[in-house]
Amino acid sequence: AVKRLWPEVKLAIGPSIKEGWYYDMDAPFAFTPEHMTEIEAEMRKICKEKLKLERFELPREEAIKFMEEKGEPYKVELIQDLPEDAPISFYKQGEFTDLCAGPHLDSTGRIKGNAIKLTACNAAYWRGDSNRQTLQRIYGIAFPKKEELDAYLERIEEAKRRDHRKLGKELGLFMLRDEGPGFPFFLPKGMVLKNTLIDYWRQVHKKYGYVEISTPVILNRKLWERSGHWDHYKQNMYTTVIDGEDYAIKPMNCPGGMLVYKSEPHSYRDLPLRVGELGLVHRHELSGALHGLFRVRCFTQDDAHLFCRPDQLKDEFLKVMDIIFIIFKALDFENFEAQISLRDKVNRDKYIGSEENWEKAESAIIEACQEKGLKAKIEYGEAAFYGPKLDFMVKDAIGRRWQLGTIQVDYNLPERFELEYTGEDNKKHRPVMIHRAPFGSMERFVAVLIEHTGGKFPLWLTPDQVSILPISEKFNDYAYEVKRQLEAEDLSVLVDGRNEKIGRKIRDTELKRIPYMLIVGEKEAENNEVSVRKQGEGDKGSMKIATFAENLNAEVEELLKEW
Ligand code: ZN
Repeated sequence: AVKRLWPEVKLAIGPSIKEGWYYDMDAPFAFTPEHMTEIEAEMRKICKEKLKLERFELPREEAIKFMEEKGEPYKVELIQDLPEDAPISFYKQGEFTDLCAGPHLDSTGRIKGNAIKLTACNAAYWRGDSNRQTLQRIYGIAFPKKEELDAYLERIEEAKRRDHRKLGKELGLFMLRDEGPGFPFFLPKGMVLKNTLIDYWRQVHKKYGYVEISTPVILNRKLWERSGHWDHYKQNMYTTVIDGEDYAIKPMNCPGGMLVYKSEPHSYRDLPLRVGELGLVHRHELSGALHGLFRVRCFTQDDAHLFCRPDQLKDEFLKVMDIIFIIFKALDFENFEAQISLRDKVNRDKYIGSEENWEKAESAIIEACQEKGLKAKIEYGEAAFYGPKLDFMVKDAIGRRWQLGTIQVDYNLPERFELEYTGEDNKKHRPVMIHRAPFGSMERFVAVLIEHTGGKFPLWLTPDQVSILPISEKFNDYAYEVKRQLEAEDLSVLVDGRNEKIGRKIRDTELKRIPYMLIVGEKEAENNEVSVRKQGEGDKGSMKIATFAENLNAEVEELLKEW
């Protein structure tokens, strides 16, 4: 369509991607939304023309000559770079022929004209190289049916409405400032959210036999050399000099945790040791990669290091999985899958740790998943050089997948730090270590939660559970009396005492995503009652203040009763 409208435009590459496709082009002008509309109209016309697509191959020299004659220098370069023995295929539709590996539809008529959409346009470098030409990239997508396109576009709109950066601002949760790119500020309401998650995390972990430590944010170079970070991770670390000595701000909590383990002798009877740390870590990310709370430069990991005997590995894995399931359930992530990352089947030289231990660990993970009835995909060659791992992917309310929760076996750090325990045989043995983080990063998790819930957080977690709306200012005193009574029952409560119509107050409270509204007027004040409205469900009738408080606390308990 572009070549029909502007024959002078040169074509670069146009691959299909996860959602739709893009095409990079060299045009003498910048594409505007008006151009995009024009292109779409032409595309619809081409679909209606039901042009047949024919594939043919040419020998290299002829292929180059063919594209030179068409005035397509980028295509010539692509052909020149193809491997010697690669077939060079073209697809022809009507007057247009493109270099393409294919496959393609057999006719443009297969696409119903109304199920096609150009979704975006931006700049891109030829071959991703900033020293080469700047091209324009047009993104688009097509579906067999119009309804499918509509559903897709609706999902994109919904994702925009749920964007955590937008909601984070509207709901007063967090902010990002130029003074600290990638270093988020948590505002009072966001802090309630984060702290409530952390309180919950602590309760669950305490129940599962974890202890908690806190290791320093800054530690010296020697430690990072020993852990391997200085050699392999330095470009992501912030460093400083103290008393003439090199120091680094921790990008991970593990090395500090190793020092704690080594600070005293251990017997096989002490194991497993489960040591949690909500550690604040800093990692340098390129400014272009930063994205709200999804990609930041400092975050709190809900970390823990488990030290166990090799024969305890599977049991520990099962227990960590329990914790992850409990947390997902409490946060309403019903759908999740797992990926097991194992060693490469053939090339095994790069892995540290004995064959026997790897086999034990790999089968422990597989068996643990089977025992839990967890749908898990096995990926060979995806394991880290120091151990296999299990990752969880959750599906959110609008079908997007997020990676949350990792359980990683590690043979490397116990080796590097010469960790030991005394076995039943009175000899020294090396423990196996597990790193695990159900949330991953608290900051990123808050972002996922905002987008998953659209800001309507579960009742136990939401910063404001109840808003009291007096019908008129005359009842403000009564409203504050209700607030006092509910707060005594451990509920978080606001009063909207503004001189506004009640309809306005209700709408504003809905925008703030507060789960419960209590409307109070003459009748309520006389009877010590409140008139209850629940977000998304409407009127729930009148009840005594104490009854409402009891119901609400029962609802919170019900949400968390799983454990
Ligand atoms: Zn770790």
